[in-house]
Amino acid sequence: MESVSKYIRQFLRERTINGEGARKGFEVASQKIKADPEIRKFINQHQSQLADDAADRSIAKLREYVMVRDAEKNNQTSFVPGYTPQLIVSDHLIDVTYKPSEELLAKRKAVRMARRVTTLSMPKDILNASLDDFEQSDGRFAALTMAVNFSDQYPSRKQFMPGCYLYGPFGVGKTYLLGAVANDLAKSGVLTTLIHFPSFESEMKASIGDNSYLKKIDSVKKSQVLMLDDIGANTLSTWVRDEVLGVILEYRMQQQLPMFFSSNISMEKLADSWLTFTNRGEGEPLKAQRLMQRIRFLSREVKLTGSDRRPKK
Ligand code: ADP
Ligand code: MG
Repeated sequence: MESVSKYIRQFLRERTINGEGARKGFEVASQKIKADPEIRKFINQHQSQLADDAADRSIAKLREYVMVRDAEKNNQTSFVPGYTPQLIVSDHLIDVTYKPSEELLAKRKAVRMARRVTTLSMPKDILNASLDDFEQSDGRFAALTMAVNFSDQYPSRKQFMPGCYLYGPFGVGKTYLLGAVANDLAKSGVLTTLIHFPSFESEMKASIGDNSYLKKIDSVKKSQVLMLDDIGANTLSTWVRDEVLGVILEYRMQQQLPMFFSSNISMEKLADSWLTFTNRGEGEPLKAQRLMQRIRFLSREVKLTGSDRRPKK
């Protein structure tokens, strides 16, 4: 915000310049301000509350009002960008207050909304993803319907409602759809955490030593809606499966908190390969099944097919 002092100085300078010419100039400017239609209207409307000489005694305020208002009209930056000036009566004189403009309110709202969506290693563009813009095609219809249904129902729902397990080929729009749901839920005040799972896995492994991973898991698992993007992408570490993913799934099932997943592989394949064969080598199908049960409880599988929407390089 630019300092108001600059304008006051300019005003005082004009007022204190010696000589009749300058004084006349000031008077002419004051007449012009008092003749301004909006100012006249305000004075007429509030005559009973204003002193008889209110306009003259409030001339500095009126001038400030006109200056900021006209700057805004002409798309120039005033010293209070984003605010619209308003005349008010104050102690029988006229004063100016500032009201945030529609544009500023919209900007603030966007920031508030963004805060309801916590992301971890996600592409930036998903912050702009929206269900309204999601491309509809036969292969995407089921997923979009489920996503819209969740977004509509969940905020007012009292009982548990499972999220979605989106799977399909690269570039079909799974990550985009997760972002769109998160943004839509934010409008209803729902807090969502969206995590790129492979990055989260690396981060967890990097912090085993200092136990800080416990704190991270704790905040992630408690998120109102939790979305894990790109699970099943690379070989899972046994430790991450049992101490990170397992802990999160267990907590969310007990607390009945919905989850979303995106993956290139189906639930069946996730259970039979990714969760069964971790980096330890030998298969652990029973462990895998237990985890899969939780995933199935927390989400419903839906397939996405269609064209690759990734920009061609
Ligand atoms: P996936 O996660 O299935 O691999 P993405 O969600 O990353 O696919 O989508 C691939 C690209 O296409 C991204 O750049 C994404 O922003 C864009 N995209 C996907 N769906 C849409 C959509 N409905 N409208 C606009 N852009 C989209
Ligand atoms: Mg993706």
